[in-house]
Amino acid sequence: MNYEAHLAPYAARSEASRGRRFSEPAPASRTEFQRDRDRIIHSTAFRRLEYKTQVFVNHEGDLFRTRLTHSIEVAQIGRSIARNLRLNEDLVEAISLAHDLGHTPFGHAGQDALNECMQAFGGFEHNLQSLRVVDELEEHYGAFNGLNLMFETREGVLKHCSLSNARKLGDIGQRFIDKKQPTLEAQLANLADEIAYNNHDIDDGLRSGLLTTAQLDDVDFYARHRREVESAYPGITGRRAIHETIRRMINALIVDLTVASQARIDQAGVRTVEDVRNASALMTFSDTMNQEAVDLKRFLRSNLYHHYQVNRMTSKARRIVRELFNAFMDEPRLLPPDYQVIEAGREQAQARNVSDYIAGMTDRYAMREHRRLFTVGEI
Ligand code: MG
Repeated sequence: MNYEAHLAPYAARSEASRGRRFSEPAPASRTEFQRDRDRIIHSTAFRRLEYKTQVFVNHEGDLFRTRLTHSIEVAQIGRSIARNLRLNEDLVEAISLAHDLGHTPFGHAGQDALNECMQAFGGFEHNLQSLRVVDELEEHYGAFNGLNLMFETREGVLKHCSLSNARKLGDIGQRFIDKKQPTLEAQLANLADEIAYNNHDIDDGLRSGLLTTAQLDDVDFYARHRREVESAYPGITGRRAIHETIRRMINALIVDLTVASQARIDQAGVRTVEDVRNASALMTFSDTMNQEAVDLKRFLRSNLYHHYQVNRMTSKARRIVRELFNAFMDEPRLLPPDYQVIEAGREQAQARNVSDYIAGMTDRYAMREHRRLFTVGEI
């Protein structure tokens, strides 16, 4: 049975794929992209996502999103839209579940700190690190390093990339140099990520008490849906009102993205994945919704991501990452043996190993490792 037969002509298909880096026999009971999704779920880096965070540190509360639940939400949103547009759901799911595998502990604070530490050694980009995890760092298979994923999955994972890094990456970096688009599935996973985090950050922000519903009334997109909820359920309050509002916002974004993208796809007249690559970005919100998303992001940036209590956490996180990095560079023998490169003149390789080690840490592991190295009496 050809599971991909019902897909739109411009959807990605296993048979038309650019394939894997190391050729393998085709799977007997699933598509190539299902195999990718399954490999990602069985990877070590995927399990670590449970203890890594975006905005809130993992130990701050049991109900906040972690990178694992975030990735599952991205996959859910992505798959819904993919089905509506007859795109390849398995590919969208694989990209969604893998898109954050390279994230450091402590969210963006950790990544910025590690990037600063790595300036003299080629820098640190989390998208590039996600690709490095699936291409190099996972140790699961006898025949190759990494997960040996399909080209289209890998290109979706590499959402952004600096030009200088793109030049070092060969075929997977070429689209950044040629200014071409990835598959519609990759474009979709990227936007599903935005829909997921904008909405769950509101939810987590309210749950933590760092945001209030009164503040959110200034955001028209939120206020409009909130009023809709209040007229449907007079007297509704608390968590139930918040959830009813957020589910409407997510739905509005999904419907808008589906309708606006289908219109652009039709208008562009694309027939194949190659046409998609050569066209402008076809997965887009409507102009009105784009503006609402910009307003929402601006609100979250000034009221949540830069809230003084979040700043205190991110400042601590930066310090932990910096101090770990410097300690391991000064004394490589403090590293677990697998990460040690001790010969003289190998500073570059040493730095990359330290960066891989730190990037792989969960929030709590990084805090524990910091205590082990800096606190007398901890072992
Ligand atoms: Mg994400």
